[in-house]
Amino acid sequence: MCYDGSVFLPRKLAIALPIAIAVAAACTPIGPPGGGRDRYHRTEVRSTSSGGGVAPAVGMTKMKREVNLRVDMVPKGTHGRKVIRPMRPRYITIHSTQNYSADASRHSLALKRGALRSPKTRYGNRIGYLIWHFTVDDKVAIQHMPTNEQGEHADFHGPGNRLSIGIEMCEQRGSNRSVTIDRTAKLTALLMKQHGIPIQNVVPHYHWPRRGKTPPNKNCPHFLLDNGRPGAKWRWFQGKVNAYYRQIQ
Ligand SMILES: [Zn+2]
Repeated sequence: MCYDGSVFLPRKLAIALPIAIAVAAACTPIGPPGGGRDRYHRTEVRSTSSGGGVAPAVGMTKMKREVNLRVDMVPKGTHGRKVIRPMRPRYITIHSTQNYSADASRHSLALKRGALRSPKTRYGNRIGYLIWHFTVDDKVAIQHMPTNEQGEHADFHGPGNRLSIGIEMCEQRGSNRSVTIDRTAKLTALLMKQHGIPIQNVVPHYHWPRRGKTPPNKNCPHFLLDNGRPGAKWRWFQGKVNAYYRQIQ
């Protein structure tokens, strides 16, 4: 699974998703284009209406709609956001959850409840919790934290955490993987556009070696790698992202 060493939702939390998520979910943009150290929420809302330097091309609007982005942030100061570490993203890291029972909403709930923990060690997790920016399934994409904050999803103290936006793809039983991949590609294209990130900086989790782990380079996202390494499948995914990126030029 992508969140090693952590515990997913306790059984008692395996309940229907509270309606609160739907209420909290606003169709706001993906993240602040630089700046906004303190007022993340306000920055995000502002970036929706003004575009924040991103040209609101017709293709972009359509793609945002197709991504079906919901914003359901882990509250600032809690769990994975208990320490706020500013980031100017230069990479986008693609993961898959390897959790076959949880969709994006359940992951969102788990993150908000601090159910995804990881031991805080010298070379390991920096804050004791896992967190990433977006979770995507075959219905929706959910944002958990602003894109100008560092997550804990890739390589502990490494550049994957310090410099990249983390996207987790769900693979719960019965879900449509190709739809999930397609939604992820569109979200990635939008983030590239918004943050000026080139396609070569869209990387699989595999790209970031994890100090102290064997093997250091993880087979993640496993279904987009060939024999545990980037190959034809990864190039196919990059091509898909690039095609969407060109559509929103
Ligand atoms: Zn991963």
